[in-house]
Amino acid sequence: MIKFDQVSKTYPGGHRALEKVSFELGNGELAFLTGHSGAGKSTLLKLISVMERPSAGHVFINGVDLNGVSNRQIPFVRRDIGIIFQNHRLLERYNVFDNVALPLVIEGMHHKHIAKRVHAALDKVGLLDKVRCQPSTLSGGEQQRVGIARAIVNSPPLLLADEPTGNLDPELSMEILKLFEDFNRHGTAVLIATHDLGLIARMKYRSLTLNHGRMSQDPLMEGGL
Ligand code: ADP
Ligand code: ADP
Repeated sequence: MIKFDQVSKTYPGGHRALEKVSFELGNGELAFLTGHSGAGKSTLLKLISVMERPSAGHVFINGVDLNGVSNRQIPFVRRDIGIIFQNHRLLERYNVFDNVALPLVIEGMHHKHIAKRVHAALDKVGLLDKVRCQPSTLSGGEQQRVGIARAIVNSPPLLLADEPTGNLDPELSMEILKLFEDFNRHGTAVLIATHDLGLIARMKYRSLTLNHGRMSQDPLMEGGL
């Protein structure tokens, strides 16, 4: 699903955020991405969603080298990726239905199909009864679930989450992680960036660890590429 081959990222101004990072995430795999604040987690996710470009090395999604993807083609790459942010980034002027429908509207899907997909996505996160609510009237956990419904509404094979439980208490955090597990059981690959070590310890998944831009101890990559 994802392959990083000796990927480095230096931001303008010379700050080196990633240094020769190599790893693979298989189809249908779930893994955590951990590391201290500033370790490079967000940068790594931005390289996958082509919000940033590598300074050196190659990022592959389903065998496609993203270096060969033009800016015009980026929306097509992103269709395969559901992205979940810490602060969910919902549009306050729109209700829950319209927020979740947004990726499908952008794709140009017919409105009849959109309604069906949106209801299915809200059903999966347990929010069907909130479909006409404004985001501001929902709790933090509910707002995060709306963000997750929006990320999965077009059934992407890959989900990226950047500190998805950052603003939630431990109980709600577990609920959100169980949702990710559920999507993963249905075949979605999931990469979750988090510095919540307590959460990771309670789950049995692989952990990719960044330390000042370097990836250490990826057990599946011993010996390197
Ligand atoms: P994390 O998500 O692990 O906290 P980031 O990927 O956000 O780490 O940041 C890694 C390093 O790169 C940090 O030192 C950060 O300040 C720097 N950085 C991130 N984005 C930019 C940017 N757009 N321009 C310059 N430096 C950046
Ligand atoms: P997030 O939680 O989404 O990573 P941040 O508050 O860390 O948000 O960063 C907001 C934006 O600023 C991001 O696009 C990030 O890449 C950028 N950024 C982070 N650190 C730096 C930095 N040192 N210099 C310039 N831009 C940065």
